[in-house]
Amino acid sequence: MEQKTIQIAGSITVDELSKALGLSVTDLIGTLFKNGIVATINQRLDYETASIIIDELGLKDVKLERKNTATKTANGPTRELSDKAVTRPPVVAVMGHVDHGKTTLLDTLLNKKTVEGEAGGITQHISAYQLEHDGRLITFLDTPGHEAFAAIRQHGAMLTDIVIIVVAADDGVKPQTIEAINFAKTANAKIIVAINKIDREGADIPRTMADLANNGLQPEEWGGDIVMVPISAKQNQNLDKLLDMILLTADLEELKADINIPAEGLVIESHMEVGKGSVVNLLVTGGELKTGEFIVAGSTYAKIRTMLDWKGKPKGKATPSTPVTITGFKELPNFGDRFTEAKDEKTARKMALLNAQNAANESASANVTSSDLLRMMNVADNSKVFNVIIKGDVLGSVTSVVDSLKMIDTHGEITLNIVSTGVGDINENDVYMAAGDNTVIYGFNVSVPINISKMAARDGVKIRTYKVIYELLDDAKSEMENLLDAEIIEEDKGEMKVLGVFRTEKTSIIAGGEVLKGDAKPGYLAKVIRDKKYLGEAEVTSVQKEKMDVKELVAGETGGLALKTKAKIDLQVGDRLKFFTRESKKRTL
Ligand code: GDP
Repeated sequence: MEQKTIQIAGSITVDELSKALGLSVTDLIGTLFKNGIVATINQRLDYETASIIIDELGLKDVKLERKNTATKTANGPTRELSDKAVTRPPVVAVMGHVDHGKTTLLDTLLNKKTVEGEAGGITQHISAYQLEHDGRLITFLDTPGHEAFAAIRQHGAMLTDIVIIVVAADDGVKPQTIEAINFAKTANAKIIVAINKIDREGADIPRTMADLANNGLQPEEWGGDIVMVPISAKQNQNLDKLLDMILLTADLEELKADINIPAEGLVIESHMEVGKGSVVNLLVTGGELKTGEFIVAGSTYAKIRTMLDWKGKPKGKATPSTPVTITGFKELPNFGDRFTEAKDEKTARKMALLNAQNAANESASANVTSSDLLRMMNVADNSKVFNVIIKGDVLGSVTSVVDSLKMIDTHGEITLNIVSTGVGDINENDVYMAAGDNTVIYGFNVSVPINISKMAARDGVKIRTYKVIYELLDDAKSEMENLLDAEIIEEDKGEMKVLGVFRTEKTSIIAGGEVLKGDAKPGYLAKVIRDKKYLGEAEVTSVQKEKMDVKELVAGETGGLALKTKAKIDLQVGDRLKFFTRESKKRTL
């Protein structure tokens, strides 16, 4: 038989594969369906999935080959600096355990360093802002949580130069403190610790430092390399020292960027606004961004229509480390996407298209990958699929929620199926989509209109809204735990030798015998064994001794048993009943 070779560059659509195989699309979709994948004609399959399906079809004469394409990612590596690079402000993120004072610290800094009234006028969520200290700028990032940073890391970009880890002096190192430390280390960011709440009675600075040292952060004062500044965010104590330390660290790091290059940077937030269209927050990392320029981010592009600084004032030009809000994107870019300047609209459109194609070829991420397939094969059972719909206030939080949900390790037992995601309040359509099994609508920083919650209650749809990402994740985890098969624990209790069978009916037996070991009690289960062969299972419904109901028969005693069975068992003299109990225990992830 002639050998057929199919070349796949990254991925192939169902339509292309069926043509290459000489199969009808319906047959191919049918085979995918049998393997638990509901695919459409335009769905892309990656190389591994295609080869598994070809195996499944028994097509031994077909050979798959990977075609190498030199693809360029949208999030390319950071560029080398030229010798013309100039100093830029540090980009700082504040992290730490919940309630240790992150928000208070940012608020106090904001009020302290901005002209009265300016900050007060900002009511909407701001994702980044700049403060001036000693005549120099510091860029602060505010994010929905550490997951946001993790998401950015996944997108291959490094955003933060310095991470300030806030630790309450009266509470010490806590799980999220450790997470923050780990994050800062993996992100290669410099760490500065702010030991907060020193005004509190229970504050213990040396103990907090020792606690930090035990977790891998050696204080500079003790010969280590981590700067630790005791502060009170609430009472505005020592915050200037903290800012000094940020600038000092920035100086030591020699943070620089080129400005004579096409502008580039990262998308740090994006959402739609009535009347304005897409509103996108960017952090410039290189070059100078100006109104009227064209930029490309992922598969979409913009002609910058308006550009505002973080206070909402028009800005004509943004230099590296500057956060700006722009309008003009055709479609919403993704949180964490890199943007680059294009010389004109035609180039921008072409680059966006190329990025879209590359993204599809590279990962086929929105489609089917071999791990999805394998997972689906193992988890053919629908009851093991946890369906979620995610709504968030801004695209950044939606991405964070989705990325962190994907990070919950279910040991391959539960499949997470993201039915849909979106920005904005929970609406009718979300409830329609959720009407089915195991679907939860999660809202992050959004609300649920009354009519929608009524509709959900009527349709039995679960809606959960959260403002703290960890709480949302905990809920999702416990929902998934509910889907896990319980752990069955059986415990041997005793054994009886059957000496007489008085009645055998379809689902009940009355018999008598001698307890050889352990005991026999109502409620026990029994395995019926004849010559080491298992005949079936019965449940002990009552126990009698000398024709009287008793609570138990113990080893050495003889007596009667009433048994309940699911199907008829022809119990005979000489059979053994092996008593046991069975408990099911809820499992955790
Ligand atoms: P976050 O969850 O880390 O953002 O913590 P918050 O900034 O919301 O602070 C949690 C609580 O601690 C609030 O009640 C704050 O008023 C309080 N708090 C924050 N910083 C200080 C501080 O320096 N001193 C005192 N006494 N309380 C503080």
